[in-house]
Amino acid sequence: MSARPVLWIVIPCYNEEQVLPLTAPLFTGKLEQLAAAGKISPNSRALFVNDGSSDRTWEIIRNLAERDERVLGICQSRNRGHQNAVLAGLMEAMDRCDITISIDCDGQDDINAMDEMVDQYLQGAEVVYGVRSRRDTDTWFKRFTAESFYRLMNRLGAEVVFNHADYRLISAKVLRHFADFEEVNIFLRGLVPLVGFPSAQVYYERAERLAGKSHYPLKKMLALAFNGITSLSIKPITLITGFGVVFSLVGLILMIWAVVEAILGHTVAGWASTVCIICLLGGIQLISLGVIGQYVGKTYLESKRRPRYIISSRTWEKEERHWLEENGPEGT
Ligand code: UDP
Ligand code: MG
Repeated sequence: MSARPVLWIVIPCYNEEQVLPLTAPLFTGKLEQLAAAGKISPNSRALFVNDGSSDRTWEIIRNLAERDERVLGICQSRNRGHQNAVLAGLMEAMDRCDITISIDCDGQDDINAMDEMVDQYLQGAEVVYGVRSRRDTDTWFKRFTAESFYRLMNRLGAEVVFNHADYRLISAKVLRHFADFEEVNIFLRGLVPLVGFPSAQVYYERAERLAGKSHYPLKKMLALAFNGITSLSIKPITLITGFGVVFSLVGLILMIWAVVEAILGHTVAGWASTVCIICLLGGIQLISLGVIGQYVGKTYLESKRRPRYIISSRTWEKEERHWLEENGPEGT
């Protein structure tokens, strides 16, 4: 039989002390089952990324790693958000495995979809997107906002796979190319398709969180959508230019009308309409400036080239806080 791929499951965790003890055994169980079925190597691992949690999450991960060699953990030095946590895990896994699957740690994404993801990989796909087939367990509001999110994203030029979140298989080969995308504003869903390579989709049903509560309220989701659009596309700027053209034309017609009225000597009750026009245009100009400002701000952030994540410790490395004392000063 041909060599089997080494799989690393990448799991971002932020303040998940309630759910982690429930879902961690599910992930290791899945590794075992996939290895037993001969689909992946027995050397596969589950990599938990602690995203600067303020609760006991990192402690739980460390304990799990101590007891089970299949569990590994990395810890970010502070909370950087879901996207950066996934990225940190993927980059960490990239040179140590053949394939990665990123998945939330709350048990919402059906881990049984991993079987089909691996099958698709074995059949030649380099990226396999997990796509939600139904949203029955979500509230009407969450479903509506989430689906509007995908529509808006696509309308505004950020091409994303409909109803696909961050549950996906990516091969190490694709990740190595992905590593060349050096931008700081990360929106994985929009960036992964840009890397290219053959891809496939696997459908699954999303369940409710096993415990704890969501960290993605409407405000964060809107921020993610806005970040996605401005990181991936300049369509809003094009739209603004279009608006500008239309409003300039309207302004021109109004101007001609005003001149004609003046020549004909009609009294023009001008004050109200003038104020209305000034207000309207003022508002539009402000919105436009705001959007353009977003892009300028992004350019500013990108120009700093700050590290996108910082890993403060790894379960497989010894903590070296007093290195000098143990090893002596260099050169002695
Ligand atoms: N998460 C993270 N950093 C954050 C927020 C969330 O790593 O700042 C993780 C979280 O632990 C979970 C995943 O991202 O594994 C998705 O978050 P959540 O379940 O809260 O979002 P929802 O599923 O409600 O959209
Ligand atoms: Mg969740």
